[in-house]
Amino acid sequence: MMKRQLTELAGWLEAQGQNMENVIVTGASIDTRTLSKGDLFIPFRGEQVNGHHYVRQAIEKGAAASLWLKDEPGAPADLPLIFVEDSELALQQLARAYREKLSCKFIGVTGSNGKTSTKDLIASVLSPYVNVRKTEGNFNNELGLPLTILSLDETTDVAVLEMGMSSFGEISFLSNLAKPDYAIITNIGEAHMQDLGSREGIAKAKFEIIDGLNDAGKLFFDGDEPLLQSLVGSHPELNAISFGYSMETDLHLTNMESGDEGSRFTVTGTVNGDFTIPVYGAHQVKNSLAAILIANELGLEHEQIHAALLQSKLTDMRMQPVLAENGALFINDAYNAAPTSMQAALAFLDETKLRSEKWAILGDMLELGENERHYHESIARQLSKIDVKGILLFGPRMKWLHEELERTGNVTKVIWSEKEYEPLIRTLLTSISKDSIILLKGSRGMELEKIMNGVLEA
Ligand code: ATP
Ligand code: MG
Repeated sequence: MMKRQLTELAGWLEAQGQNMENVIVTGASIDTRTLSKGDLFIPFRGEQVNGHHYVRQAIEKGAAASLWLKDEPGAPADLPLIFVEDSELALQQLARAYREKLSCKFIGVTGSNGKTSTKDLIASVLSPYVNVRKTEGNFNNELGLPLTILSLDETTDVAVLEMGMSSFGEISFLSNLAKPDYAIITNIGEAHMQDLGSREGIAKAKFEIIDGLNDAGKLFFDGDEPLLQSLVGSHPELNAISFGYSMETDLHLTNMESGDEGSRFTVTGTVNGDFTIPVYGAHQVKNSLAAILIANELGLEHEQIHAALLQSKLTDMRMQPVLAENGALFINDAYNAAPTSMQAALAFLDETKLRSEKWAILGDMLELGENERHYHESIARQLSKIDVKGILLFGPRMKWLHEELERTGNVTKVIWSEKEYEPLIRTLLTSISKDSIILLKGSRGMELEKIMNGVLEA
């Protein structure tokens, strides 16, 4: 954060304080473990932990001051404090006021899958040329987003903010907080179907990102998704640019192939030319179209975009290539799984020519609600069409897929393990070679990387 007087922050909060004179704040933190010197500490009162018990410790660790809930007894008289009604609201109010003082460009990224990947790709493509700050990890909610805004300073040129949600109104709220100059909707999937009712509901909820878009702002969206096309169609005032596989989109893929260095592809439309990214999967290539559009919008030349994308760095476990000592290639996509990202990962396995012997290690997809059985069974169709050497299934829900594969009967080698990693690790150890490519895909809770690590460390 740019240096601010504590009294000024009290003004933003329209709140009273104590010992505020000559106190300078340079950031905000809600956690003493990650606090930096000069931060304003914001204590939260939860069921397990009361952050007020850590206020003195925060200040001893270098915090410049702290907030304090008005109805919390025992405010230490010697510390610089601002008294507020609600910690979360105060954090958001600070971020909103601070946002208005910042002149950097804001980019908001939402979508069912690919937010973190797209955020990383945008930051990668811009960072050799301008000072970019991005959401750390998955700090994409009502706390993470304001904290990220408060971490920006006068040297920031571009802020790339991930916006996540699980129900209506959340993206609208985050977008109104960040007031993005550019908004991106990566795709529409099935996650959060339970709360939002239907894919239409999910699309509407993501589309809320236009609520906070600046008047001169632009929306970049997945043009392969008819639901988004139709929402854009009903907002003629919106400056919207589509990207995707379809030739109808403003920026589309015309060619793509994978090689040792990653995915090479050609785009046509708003930007024309060839690019390479060091990750695999058509869906990650599609995410880079959003990054190319942003880079083009900010005035970068083809050469500059090309050079930066080549060096781009994604967060681990998103279609991450990991080479084993014997030459076998793991594709670690085990960060998470939902039906759309499962399909995307399997589409990659289907088309890849990187290695001849293909393996799929698939783990349960969690949080899918009452249709979970259907979603697991329906993987069988796509899977049966892929020329795989073996399929290893892990987790109780994968039993449904296992049964479905047995029913349809045209798959050679399928092993299912409900909770033990060992049998799967043993199978791989005796089967894989330099000719193998092994996709790992499952929900976070399944920790499929343990299978890969078991093989790598054997
Ligand atoms: P979260 O909601 O957990 O924050 P996210 O939207 O940030 O997820 P990523 O972390 O980028 O998404 O990717 C999650 C998974 O989805 C990964 O397995 C990734 O390979 C896959 N994925 C990324 N982009 C797409 C896309 N455009 N379409 C489908 N799947 C995608
Ligand atoms: Mg994410």
